[in-house]
Amino acid sequence: PIVQRATPEIMASTTKPHLVLIPWQGGISHIIPMTDIGILLASHGAAVTIITTPANAPVVQSRIDRAAPVITVTAIPFPGAEAGLPDGCERLDLLRSPADVPRFFAANKMFGEAVTQHCRGGSSVPPGRPSCVVAGMCHAWALAMARELGVPCYIFHGFGAFALLCIEHLFKHRPHEAVASPDELFGIPALPSFECRVSRRQLPPHFSPSTSMGGGQMQDMREFEAAVDGVVVNTFEELENGSAGILASATGKKVLAVGPVSLSHSPASLDPRTMSGDARRCMAWLDAKASRSVVYVSFGSAGIMPPAQLVQLGMALVSCPWPVLWVIKGADSLPGDVKKWLCENTDADGVASSKCLVVRGWAPQVAILDHPAVGGFLTHCGWGSTLEAVAAGMPMATWPLFAEQFLNERLIVDVLGVGVSVGVTKPTENILTASKTDGSKAEVVAEVRKEQVMEALERLMNQGAEGEERWRKAQELKLKAKGALEEGGSSNVNLENLVHSFV
Ligand code: UDP
Repeated sequence: PIVQRATPEIMASTTKPHLVLIPWQGGISHIIPMTDIGILLASHGAAVTIITTPANAPVVQSRIDRAAPVITVTAIPFPGAEAGLPDGCERLDLLRSPADVPRFFAANKMFGEAVTQHCRGGSSVPPGRPSCVVAGMCHAWALAMARELGVPCYIFHGFGAFALLCIEHLFKHRPHEAVASPDELFGIPALPSFECRVSRRQLPPHFSPSTSMGGGQMQDMREFEAAVDGVVVNTFEELENGSAGILASATGKKVLAVGPVSLSHSPASLDPRTMSGDARRCMAWLDAKASRSVVYVSFGSAGIMPPAQLVQLGMALVSCPWPVLWVIKGADSLPGDVKKWLCENTDADGVASSKCLVVRGWAPQVAILDHPAVGGFLTHCGWGSTLEAVAAGMPMATWPLFAEQFLNERLIVDVLGVGVSVGVTKPTENILTASKTDGSKAEVVAEVRKEQVMEALERLMNQGAEGEERWRKAQELKLKAKGALEEGGSSNVNLENLVHSFV
C-alpha cells in the first residue's frame, strides 16, 4: 500500500511544473534539507511531491505542516524484510551493525523499483507526471527512472560546494595516492587562492579502501553523479568563495545553490516554546542565560563519540566557565560508569540555574542557534549544522567526526574565518567505516584531551579582538545568507530559474 497525502489545490494544479524529490534515507540530515528544498520550490510556484519511506514520512510531514505549503508526501514501503533487515530499519542510523549496510543498499535498489513503478503511473498519480526528479546521493536508480520519464535528473548530495569540489579534484587527480602514510598532510588546490590541507585518513568514504558499503556501491554513486543533469546544493553563491561556479566548470553541470534551506521556515513556525518535551526545556533554560554566554554542543543527528572521548569532552564542558547545552546521541548505550558520571555532573531536566544541560533526544537546533544566549557552537561540521550556524551568524569550534566533515572544517576555519579548530586528526568510526562487522565496538582511546577542548572553547568564547573578529565575520555571513533568499538574492533567483525552466 502506498500512503499519500495530497491537497485539493495540488490535485487541481495540472499546469504547474511538478518536481519530485526523493531524499536519501541515509539519515535525518538528508531528509531535513530536501524537505526544506521542497518547501522553497513550492513557495516559487512548483507542485512538489516528496517520496520517502513510511518510517521517514512523519519527519517530512511534520516539517511541511509547520511551514504549511502545499506539498504531496508519498510513502512507498521500504522492502527491508526482503533484504534481511528487521522491520522499520529505514535509515542507516537505525541499522544494528555494519553487516546490515549491504542489506540496506540492496533494499534501496528494490525501493527504487517500487518508486519507478509508482512514477510510471503518470497522470493517474496526483499531482501528475513529474517535470523533474531531484534524487538523494545514493539513489543511483533515479537516473534510469528520469530517463524513462524523459525528464531531467538532479542530484542532492547534502554536501557543500567546497567539499564537492575537493571530492571532484580527488577523483580526477588522486593526490591522496601519492602520500606515504594515512596521516601525511597533502594539498587539494580546490580554489584558486586556497589549498585545502588534509590527510588521507580524513577523506570521505569514497576514498577509503574499506567501507561496509562495498566498492560496487561507490562506483554506482560516482557514475550517477557523472550522468545527472545538475546538482542542487544547500549553500549560497556568496558563501564558499566561488566554489559553486568552479564546481560547475569542473563538472560541466548546472550547480544550483538554493540555500540556506533552513531559512525556508519562519522563526515563528519553528518556535520550540509551542512544542513539547526537550525542545521547550532547552528554550526555557536558554531564556534564563545571559546574552552570548552559552556554548551549544552537538555532533549532528547520529554522531556518537566513543565513551572514553565523551568523558574527556564532558570534563571540559563541566569545568569551563560558560553554561553548556550539550546534545548527546546514543546515550542509552553508554557504559554504566559514564552514565553515572553524566547524571552526577549534568542536568537533564533543565533547571534554569544549572550549568550543563544535557539533551538525549532531539534538540531544536535552528532555534537554539538563533537564541541570543548562545555565543558559540561546538560542532562536528556536518554540512546541515554548518549552514545553520552560518545562517544564525554563529562562530564555531570544529570537531569533525567523519564523511566530508574534515573538508568542511577547513572551509569554516581557513576560508571563512568563522571557526576555531579543536585539532582532531583522526576520524571517529561509524557504521560505514567500522573495523568490526559484528556490531561490537573497537576499544578506542580518546585522541582529544580535556585541556585541548578547553583551549578551543576559550578561543571560541573569548570576546577579545580575535573572538570579536570571528563574531563580526559570522554576523556578516548571516546577513548575506538572509539576502540570498530574499527577492532578487542569488538563491532566490536560482530557485525561480529552476522552477520556471519547466514551464
Ligand atoms: N539536528 C537537530 N537536533 C538534533 C540533532 C540534529 O535539529 O538533536 C538537525 C540539525 O539542525 C541539522 C541536522 O539535524 O539540520 C544534522 O545535519 P548535519 O548535516 O549537520 O549532520 P549529520 O546528522 O549528517 O551528521
